[in-house]
Amino acid sequence: MKIYLDNSATTPLNPHVLEAMLPFFTDKFGNASSIHSFGREANRAVSEAREIIAECINARPSEIYFTSGGTESDNWALKGAVYVSKNKYKHIITTQIEHPAILNTCTELEKQNVEITYMNPSKEGMINPKELSNLITENTILTSIMFANNEIGTLQPIKEAATICREQSVLFHTDAVQAMDSQKIDVKELGIDMLSMSAHKFYGPKGIGVLFVKTGSRLGKLINGGEQERGLRAGTTPTPLIVGMAKALEISVRDREKNNQRILRLRNMFIDRVLSEIPYVYLNGNRENRLPNNVNLSFAFIEGESVLMRLDLAGIAVSSGSACASGSLEASHVILSLGVKEELAHSTIRFSLGVDTTEQQMDYVFNVLKKTVDDLRRMSPLYDYEKGIGSYV
Ligand SMILES: *Cc1c(COP(=O)(O)O)cnc(C)c1O
Repeated sequence: MKIYLDNSATTPLNPHVLEAMLPFFTDKFGNASSIHSFGREANRAVSEAREIIAECINARPSEIYFTSGGTESDNWALKGAVYVSKNKYKHIITTQIEHPAILNTCTELEKQNVEITYMNPSKEGMINPKELSNLITENTILTSIMFANNEIGTLQPIKEAATICREQSVLFHTDAVQAMDSQKIDVKELGIDMLSMSAHKFYGPKGIGVLFVKTGSRLGKLINGGEQERGLRAGTTPTPLIVGMAKALEISVRDREKNNQRILRLRNMFIDRVLSEIPYVYLNGNRENRLPNNVNLSFAFIEGESVLMRLDLAGIAVSSGSACASGSLEASHVILSLGVKEELAHSTIRFSLGVDTTEQQMDYVFNVLKKTVDDLRRMSPLYDYEKGIGSYV
């Protein structure tokens, strides 16, 4: 049995999306910038895809810029805002719980003398937008707050944050990569100036993303070259990926309510069972205000990596920390920022459900998990199995 519960790392390609993409790898291979019929055919498909994606977030097609994915969109939003700013001193506000695509871009910009302020989340992983009013200075050019966290799934108060920024003439960017599949996002209603998304997080292909840039927002270039994407993002247009992204988002929006309801029910049943039947387990992130498919748990007295490997042997794919941070043995910056102690942070596992997840799968996962935690605790020097208590927490 193979069970995939790592949909926040990436999702499988929807077969209908693959079908829509295939002709653009073969017969319809033209360069979308060419003037002949091959080029016009590709260009038409790209224009249609741009319209579909714009409509899904209530933007204009001319506000949609294709990129290579979420990471490039995040880099572009931040660096582009810095490059074009005429301020002598430049200041950006973001949060401690952003994805490395934002955090490491900030580290890079700090080397270029950009000042960065990192907002702390609450214990439950929520950013308080009211703090923004005190943090914004005359040098602040941009605020970037993620729509939904990729590790603990918390949904941030984007509309409130965007409103405060607009009132103070500060650009507002959101990394919505994790949110696109399950949340209704209306950039006009929310007052967003820039938004990053990535197709492979909503059952589309890898290597394609979008940066939405509201008309009138000034943004410098990240990639220099030809005149693609209205001269702002060079590189031959990847027609098959763009067609696939639009198809995937169209399906995601169409099936959103149905999928959310089903996944939410499975997710809540799983959380309830784990919290009531396995001792010393802690749910990270606000219970209500989170993505419907996210479960993030810390299992005291044992290592998250050991749980992950045992589940993998049983055919279950989960994540310890985020895909980007695992591999390094450091505890997750997101879990630590909640005030969780380092030992407990190391025992963290993320389960991210998807459209293919079934109730039978979750029953099996629960049973394997319970046995795994039990076995590992028997071997843990930190846990007195006979007494059922540990030496810390
Ligand atoms: C996956 C992810 C990214 C990176 O997107 P890629 O398309 O893989 O580069 C950025 N931000 C968040 C929140 C993500 O989950």
